[in-house]
Amino acid sequence: MFNALVLTQENKQTFASVTQLQESDLPQGEVLVEVECSSLNYKDGLAVTGLGKIIRNFPMVPGIDFAGRVIESQDERYQAGDQVILTGWGVGENHWGGLAQKARVKADWLVPMPQHCDAAKAMQIGTAGLTAMLCVQALQNANVQPSDGDILVTGASGGVGSVAVTLLNKLGYTVVASSGRVSQNGDLLKRLGAAEVIDRSELDIDARPLDKQRWAGMVDTVGNKVLATALSQMKYGGSAAICGLAGGFALPTTVMPFILRNVSLLGIDSVSCPFEKRRAAWNDVISLLPETYYQQACETISLEQVPEFAQRIIKGEVTGRVLVKL
Ligand code: NDP
Repeated sequence: MFNALVLTQENKQTFASVTQLQESDLPQGEVLVEVECSSLNYKDGLAVTGLGKIIRNFPMVPGIDFAGRVIESQDERYQAGDQVILTGWGVGENHWGGLAQKARVKADWLVPMPQHCDAAKAMQIGTAGLTAMLCVQALQNANVQPSDGDILVTGASGGVGSVAVTLLNKLGYTVVASSGRVSQNGDLLKRLGAAEVIDRSELDIDARPLDKQRWAGMVDTVGNKVLATALSQMKYGGSAAICGLAGGFALPTTVMPFILRNVSLLGIDSVSCPFEKRRAAWNDVISLLPETYYQQACETISLEQVPEFAQRIIKGEVTGRVLVKL
């Protein structure tokens, strides 16, 4: 028997409870993994609270990422004892996920544990950190250079945001962090590498078609008016990597930044990111992220604490990354 967080639904309400399961309860898959760590992402918050329509089939074990050790494998790429990471592919949404001591998944969904990494570190990075790396790589591939000017990171105190601030600073970019919690997290964001921290309210306004040019690049985790305003402030030829909707999925913008300032919008998805790109991003984020990130911006919780933290992440009250120890 092993412990799992199980979500059930009654009268359209989602209930989460730690339950004992056995291996025969797990869904089909080629690889059985002893999960050592999972993490809490914004999407997990939506799933566990039921506030987002993330899960359609109940009961469901949530948890969109995990890291652990292979117990048994029917796929030749993995052997018992191998350390592995999983993010995305709908795990924790439509296939039982990582908030359990065991998981059975498809071999195609796994990534071998990179060198210089372990399960705890991998999940301190987690889906959010991997996505931050994909955003930064997209800006690099769009030829955004440190000498081009300031890079804006929105939702900077969150998982994706705080890793993006840290990575961009490490790569020599000048980072401006936008946060709704400047008084609480301003000092932390500066320690992580922000040159300046601005209040979200500066951007959370009705956007003009074009505004004063400020940003050479951007990593956006928020969407909606914040993104629209930031787009109106992009410098000529700038690029915006956008991955999130913490402020809503709308995008009340115009064509002006794109057709008059040659601005590029780079959509970022981590869920179905191809294996080789995913593996390269894992290697890069592990080699770039300094130890100080893990010390300053990560906290550890138990499976029992997940429902409480799920409420908190949806209210925008969580800072940095939350590691779940199984
Ligand atoms: P977090 O909750 O850790 O971070 C989100 C941050 O956004 C918060 O810390 C807060 O930062 C800000 N925020 C919260 N609520 C609001 C609001 N109502 N309006 C404006 N800003 C708000 O989440 P994650 O880092 O895990 O994820 C961030 C976003 O990226 C989510 O929308 C998530 O779904 C998406 N995502 C997408 C992925 C992809 O593959 N495309 C993968 C991973 C995440 P502050 O207080 O500093 O303003």
